[in-house]
Amino acid sequence: MSSADSRHAVIVGAGPAGAVLANLLATRGVRVTLLERQAEFAREFRGEALMPGGIAVLKNLGMDEVLETVPQITPQSFEFYANRKRVFRLEGELAGDTDLQPRIYSQPALLEAIVAGTRLRSDMKFERGASVKELLHGNGRVVGLRVRTSEGERQIDADLVIGCDGRSSIVRRKAPLEVKSQDLPMDVLWSKLPAPDIWQGKPSVCACIGKGHLFFAYMAYDGLMQIAWIIPKGSFGELRERGTDEWVSDMANHVPLELSDHLLKHKDRLVHPFLLSTAADCVRRWSIPGAMVIGDAAHTMSPVGGQGVNIALRDAVVAANHLVPVLQSGGSLEAIDAAALRIEEERMPEVSRIQSLQATPPKIMLRDTWWAELARQVPRLMRFAPVRALASRAAQPALFGTADVRLQV
Ligand SMILES: Cc1cc2nc3c(=O)[nH]c(=O)nc-3n(C[C@H](O)[C@H](O)[C@H](O)COP(=O)(O)OP(=O)(O)OC[C@H]3O[C@@H](n4cnc5c(N)ncnc54)[C@H](O)[C@@H]3O)c2cc1C
Repeated sequence: MSSADSRHAVIVGAGPAGAVLANLLATRGVRVTLLERQAEFAREFRGEALMPGGIAVLKNLGMDEVLETVPQITPQSFEFYANRKRVFRLEGELAGDTDLQPRIYSQPALLEAIVAGTRLRSDMKFERGASVKELLHGNGRVVGLRVRTSEGERQIDADLVIGCDGRSSIVRRKAPLEVKSQDLPMDVLWSKLPAPDIWQGKPSVCACIGKGHLFFAYMAYDGLMQIAWIIPKGSFGELRERGTDEWVSDMANHVPLELSDHLLKHKDRLVHPFLLSTAADCVRRWSIPGAMVIGDAAHTMSPVGGQGVNIALRDAVVAANHLVPVLQSGGSLEAIDAAALRIEEERMPEVSRIQSLQATPPKIMLRDTWWAELARQVPRLMRFAPVRALASRAAQPALFGTADVRLQV
């Protein structure tokens, strides 16, 4: 089928969901326009941890080579500390005996490689620095959008607008799609600094909990140590007023001694510390006639367990399975809208399950109460093999997802 017969899909946002969906549609003969508001991928915050479920999806799409060439690190160990004491350490394979280990990627490089795979197609247009401002409605459906570029505003007609534009999605707002939000108790202070010598050649992930505080550190793809200091929502203003020295000291007081010394020693070398406000929500319907959303635009994922990129990639594959046959063959508008409904139907169970799994840990980890303290002792049981086996079973949904997601087109 040539793209001359194809319907026109306009994808808003070239994050993981948009880049992969554009690639899948364009390489299967669908006429696609991909619009990304940033001129460079590195200018938007991008989660870096990719779980085995997301890696499996990219392999299933035949992107093995892309995966191997992008800067990345595979953590070799995971250490868990409670009240500054080591509770357990997992060595080697974190996801069982499979080559699909969680990895830390440069997401800008990964996105660059994914869109490069589609750029040679004449029927695929990719515009950077193109910010969508409005949806156009007509005859009871969305019929296109208004986009602003450095050359001014213009209109683009579309048979289907697909919002892959993340947590502050304009497609979601302008459709409009009703949203159900969760209350998240935390925000994240995010920064990098030199990695400890002991991590060189043996990259590690480290989680520290204690007395209402939570700290994560891992070796990033660029050899620096990424740190995430989880703070109560709304407390950043006060921290900023107290100054960097004070909040680094706070952090240092809640991590094991060697890491504490390392943080204090390198506090002047923190790379651009900034606040990431967290959110978790889901739209009640993923589509209206002529427009639909996937990825964070449909269901903003909390950062817990590094699930957002995975789920966005898995949405894109299911979307392609349903949309390619109907868009490629120039199907009716009713058939396009019916395909959009089937995508929501197929994806909702996994999204709901993962979101409810993500909701529990912050409620326990960030409370400074006796029962939370008791719950925080549970990881100590990880020294017993049967408990480790149980924990590994419980982690399967986060590592591999709960649905069988495979490309069928
Ligand atoms: C602190 C924190 C840490 C996280 N860490 C991880 C992690 O390690 N691993 C993980 O899997 N997930 C992580 N996440 C979640 C993850 O970042 C998201 O779930 C994931 O990026 C969603 O992908 P997406 O393609 O749906 O949207 P996004 O990645 O948000 O991409 C949306 C794209 O749309 C573009 N855009 C937005 N508006 C417009 C517009 N009007 N016009 C044109 N383009 C537009 C944006 O520039 C962007 O490129 C984290 C989240 C937070 C808050």
